[in-house]
Amino acid sequence: MASATSGDHLVPLADWLTLYQGLLLVAGPCSVESRQQLLVTARQLAATGKVSLLRAGVWKPRSRPGQFEGRGAEALPWLQEIKKETGLPVAVEAARPSHAELCLQHGVDVIWLGARTTVNPFMVQEIANAIKGTGLPVMIKNPVCPDLRLWMGAIERIMLAGSQKIVAIHRGFQTHEKKIYRNIPLWDIPMALKNKMPQLPVICDPSHIAGDVQWIRELAEKSLAMKMNGLMIETHYRPEEALTDPLQQMTPAAYHDLVNRLSDNVATHADTPDRLENLRNQIDDCDCHLLELLACRLSLSKQAGKVKKQQGAEILQPRRKHDLFHDRQAKAKALGLCPTFVNDFMTLLHEESVSVQSEDAAKDKNP
Ligand code: PEP
Ligand code: MN
Repeated sequence: MASATSGDHLVPLADWLTLYQGLLLVAGPCSVESRQQLLVTARQLAATGKVSLLRAGVWKPRSRPGQFEGRGAEALPWLQEIKKETGLPVAVEAARPSHAELCLQHGVDVIWLGARTTVNPFMVQEIANAIKGTGLPVMIKNPVCPDLRLWMGAIERIMLAGSQKIVAIHRGFQTHEKKIYRNIPLWDIPMALKNKMPQLPVICDPSHIAGDVQWIRELAEKSLAMKMNGLMIETHYRPEEALTDPLQQMTPAAYHDLVNRLSDNVATHADTPDRLENLRNQIDDCDCHLLELLACRLSLSKQAGKVKKQQGAEILQPRRKHDLFHDRQAKAKALGLCPTFVNDFMTLLHEESVSVQSEDAAKDKNP
C-alpha cells in the first residue's frame, strides 16, 4: 500500500502544468529587480511559447550582508500583473513561513524551497505547517550539501502537509575548491532520488550548477539524457546588468535557442539506455573533478617552489620524491589501482610540478 510519503499520491506533472515534449520548463529571472525588468523579461519569455512556469526570486538569500536581497513583498503584485497578462503561472522562493503566506495571499501558483532552506529541517517544517491543507504546489531544491536523506526529508515534510503537486530540483552541491562548475552535479544523487520516489518529477537547474552560461547547454543535455523531467533556467533581458547571478542568466532569446536545440537532443536520446547515460555523466563529472584537482595540485607545487626559492632549497629533492612515490603506491594499492599505471601517472605529475617550479625560478632570474 502507498504510504503518505512514498510519492505515489503525487499528481502527474501534465495534469497541472503545460509541458513541452513532456518537459517542465521553468524560466525567469534569478531575482525580481524592478517591475520593468520583470515585465520585459517575462513578456519575452512568454513570446517563446516554451515556458511552463515563470520563476522569480523575490526574497534572495545572500551569503554576505550588504548585497541586494530582493524586492520582497512589493514585487508580488508585479507577478500578479504579469501572470494576468501572459497567462503563465508563477513560482517564487519561500525561505520562511511568512514568505509562503504572502505567496498564498498574492496568488503565487508554486513556491520553491531553496538549497539553503532544504538543508534546515526546522525551517522546512515551519514552511510545511504554513501551507498545510492549502495544496500549494512546492518545488524542492536539493540541499547545498550532498545529503540525499535531507533532500528526501524535506520532500516528505511537504507531502505530509498535504501537498500533492511536488517537484524536486537538482541544482548541484557546494564544495570549497576552485572549480569549473559553480556547484558539482553529483548526478547519482538525483538519480537515487528518482529510484526511491519514481512518481516524483525531478528537474535540473543547470544555471545554478554551471554558474556561467557557457556550461548550461551541456548540463541541460546531460540531465535530459538522464531522463530528468525538465529544466529551470535563469533568464534576464539584460544579464550583464543583473543584480544577482549575472554570469549564469541568459537572455530569453538564448533560452529559446537552447530549448529548440534540446528538442533534437531529447529525440536522439529517447532510445539510449538510461544506465549508460548515467554512467557516462558520472565519468564526465569525475574527469572534471580530476582536472580541478590537477589545477589545485599544480598551484600548490608552484607555491612550494616559491618557498623553496626563498629558503635557497633545491627544486628536486630525491628524498621527498622517494617518500611521495612510496606513499602514493601504498594508497593506490588500498584503492585497488594498477601499480604501473599509478607509477606512470605520478611520474608525469611530478615532472610537471618540477617543470612549473623551474619555469617560475627561471622567470624570477630573468624577469
Ligand atoms: C535561486 O534559484 O535563485 C536560488 C537562490 O537557488 P539555490 O537555492 O539553488 O541556490
Ligand atoms: Mn540565482
